[in-house]
Amino acid sequence: MVKCFVVGCSMGYKSAKENDAKVFKPPKEERQFILWGKKLKRSDKKFSRKDHVCSRHFKEEFIIKNSVNGGAPLSRWKLRDDAIPTLFLGKF
Ligand SMILES: [Zn+2]
Repeated sequence: MVKCFVVGCSMGYKSAKENDAKVFKPPKEERQFILWGKKLKRSDKKFSRKDHVCSRHFKEEFIIKNSVNGGAPLSRWKLRDDAIPTLFLGKF
C-alpha cells in the first residue's frame, strides 16, 4: 500500500486497492515539484520524488476522475498538470 506524505493522514478508503488508485506521484516538472515541497513541508522529512500524496489534499477541480473520451470513470485518478496540494495539510 502506498502511504500519503502528509503527517497524520490516514486515507479513509475501504481497500488498499482503492487507496492506491487515489494516491498521486509528485509532478515531473521541477518548478511544480518544488511548489509541492513547500506546501508539504515537514520538519522530519524532505519531500522527495519517491513520496506520494493522496487525493484528499487536492481541490476537486484538480482531479481528473473520468477519461476525456466518453467520460468513463478512470480506475486510477489523474491530476491536472497545475495541481497543487492545498487541503488538510497538517491539520489532523
Ligand atoms: Zn493524504
